[in-house]
Amino acid sequence: MGRAPICEQLGLDSVDDGAESSNVQALGLRKNLKWKNGSTLTVAFVGTLATSRKMSWARKLVRKYAHTWSKYANIRFTFRVKRPQNATIRICFTREGNSSSQVGTNCRKVRQGPTMRIRIRSTSKRYFLRQSALHEFGHVLGLIHEHQHPGRRIEWNKKAVQRAYPHWSKKKVRKNIFDHYEPGEVDASDFDANSIMMYEIRSEWTHGKFSTKRKSHLSPGDKSAIREMYPPKKKATI
Ligand SMILES: [Zn+2]
Repeated sequence: MGRAPICEQLGLDSVDDGAESSNVQALGLRKNLKWKNGSTLTVAFVGTLATSRKMSWARKLVRKYAHTWSKYANIRFTFRVKRPQNATIRICFTREGNSSSQVGTNCRKVRQGPTMRIRIRSTSKRYFLRQSALHEFGHVLGLIHEHQHPGRRIEWNKKAVQRAYPHWSKKKVRKNIFDHYEPGEVDASDFDANSIMMYEIRSEWTHGKFSTKRKSHLSPGDKSAIREMYPPKKKATI
């Protein structure tokens, strides 16, 4: 069995709860890391690989999948940026390791360097890029990993999970996989196993009680929930 692909969700530690809650249908969104509804976020590619000519196909797809979220969330992304280093979201590409992203408004707290890493694979590259870009832009909007949803307590076979992540410390596995959020930390309701924020969970990791494959499209629950979190502006009525 190969190495388990999972993205490392960055910025889990800072908690300063405060924003209003809303009644959503699925997904978990960090309340204190939510953007102001209607915001436009600047995005730029940084680093040698992400800005190289040979990666124009990948940049094009990343832009496309960022805009996919904007069809449902009242948050826009603009890639027209004069100074990439000043963009709110800074994306680099990597050939090694995992994709990762800061969560929600934590992106603003990173003064230098990338806020998001997208792993570019040599095989099935378009398929994996769609998975990664949709998932990482979910984090940008403030979404957490669905397996850490407060409404779903998975009974882990911790030894089996740790074996699948030989390159991760116990602390890192606990933080990214076993830890779950408390209901007060997130806007969330029902657990959505089809969410783009869900990762592969192997049957042997849960004593055979639960398993799921990694997703590569926004689920109906993703679309309706993010629309409720960032609703369209109401048109003025006369
Ligand atoms: Zn992730």
